[in-house]
Amino acid sequence: MDSGIHPNTKWTYHGTGGLLDLLQQKDQHQRNTILLHLNQTHHLVHIEGVLSTHKSILRAIASRRLPNIDQALRVAMHQGMSAMLDFAHLALGLPATLTVRAIAAVPLLQASPATPSIEDIVQSVDMAFGPLLHGVAVIRRPVHGTVGVDEIATEECLWWNDATNHVLGICREHIGEWVRTIDSYEDVEVLVEEMKRKVIHHAVEATVCAVTLLSLDTRLGSARPIAVSGTCKAEKAPEHRKLLQTMLDGIAAAKVLQGICIVCYASDGTSMCHKALCDMTTKRLLHRESNIFPYLGHLPLLNLWVGDDDLTVDKDYKHVAFKRVHNAVLRADGINVLGMLLTSEILCTHLQDESQILDLKEPTLTTLFNVADKQDVNRVYRLAFLIWELWCVPIPNHREATYLLRLSAAAHMLLALYFHEGAKSRFLPNPLFIDIMLMIKNAYFCVAKAKADNPRSAWFLIWMGTNSLESIFGVVRTMVGNDLNTDMLQLAQRLSHSVEVTNVFAEYKVLE
Ligand SMILES: [Zn+2]
Repeated sequence: MDSGIHPNTKWTYHGTGGLLDLLQQKDQHQRNTILLHLNQTHHLVHIEGVLSTHKSILRAIASRRLPNIDQALRVAMHQGMSAMLDFAHLALGLPATLTVRAIAAVPLLQASPATPSIEDIVQSVDMAFGPLLHGVAVIRRPVHGTVGVDEIATEECLWWNDATNHVLGICREHIGEWVRTIDSYEDVEVLVEEMKRKVIHHAVEATVCAVTLLSLDTRLGSARPIAVSGTCKAEKAPEHRKLLQTMLDGIAAAKVLQGICIVCYASDGTSMCHKALCDMTTKRLLHRESNIFPYLGHLPLLNLWVGDDDLTVDKDYKHVAFKRVHNAVLRADGINVLGMLLTSEILCTHLQDESQILDLKEPTLTTLFNVADKQDVNRVYRLAFLIWELWCVPIPNHREATYLLRLSAAAHMLLALYFHEGAKSRFLPNPLFIDIMLMIKNAYFCVAKAKADNPRSAWFLIWMGTNSLESIFGVVRTMVGNDLNTDMLQLAQRLSHSVEVTNVFAEYKVLE
């Protein structure tokens, strides 16, 4: 009597209230059962996926038809690193995964919820370079560095960053400098309403800015991201220029980078970024009092226009000198060289004629001239190498002075071919011609700056371009997967982790 009517008693003995309670209990039980069933199904699907991946790997190894199996296994091992850490923690008493994450040497980079300010950049620079430069011997001479800027596609979704209470994934163009924080439910409703009315938009790409120090120490020489900011690609050159200038001002204001001299601004050559960077780096002619004037002032035909602190613009050589030249050669109109039209068909015929000597098969030739796939870098290198072999050009001597001489020769030849009988864009597309010239000019300026500031230090042409930033993007894509885009929050975290991965590989060569 104290505990009421037993649930198993016939319904006729229950009151109306008791029957309603029973109904609620049964409903809750049914919901729990459905949820449990769903969770179990989800777990089984996950296990099935893992099993099929393992089976695929085993089948690939057994078939011996998978090229670069060692790289594939290395990626698989990286993805299973967490399990290895757990095992090492239990077996050897090493720190657990959570402890390792908590004491990470590189602090997490925070994505900007709006257009980054100078204070944001200073803070990010301190976080990125503070632990790295702590303990490095006192810098006696200016260390040179480059700033690289590039875009990476992101998922169109909003994320709340619990560390800063900011909403990420909104375009910087339309949100301006107003930072969105979530303090109440009404804030979320206003945000959703503005998204629906298209006052603000999802960020479709993230602009990533990174500083790379030109150093033989591979740990110092890897790119350090200092800003991540979302864009809906509606930005115009003046606004983009303001953003790029903010990056430079932030780097100059950061105490941790005092003694670091930024020698050039590198980009992958998007037209808007190109216009903004050209405005920034053609403010005045090189002053006679500048310490690099003695090296460059007497060179005839050299473009001596520079920006503040003799800043020049760099173009990524892999994009410009290989991919875009390759695409120009294979375009439908071909290229006009000294009044003669050179098309992909003519080039293909020349390669066919020499196929015996070059050891070329018909399927390879067809693949080499497949214009549909413009992203296959291996194919670009292969075709460039075959053209090189076709004309039996001797292998150049690998010395810095020779490089500069060859770059100068290339610039003079390009100039002559570009203006021969007004060929211009019939020879090479105008933006490509300008980018090659800017790239060569930048190499001369960077070498002159190195000679003036650090005459005894080593300097390599391969340091130029956005190579170090691209390597970081490569690590991010390996972490996330090639078929997925990251969201803004994930991107900032992954960029920080990729810097740490690069540091580990640089310090322990045996792991590579
Ligand atoms: Zn927008």
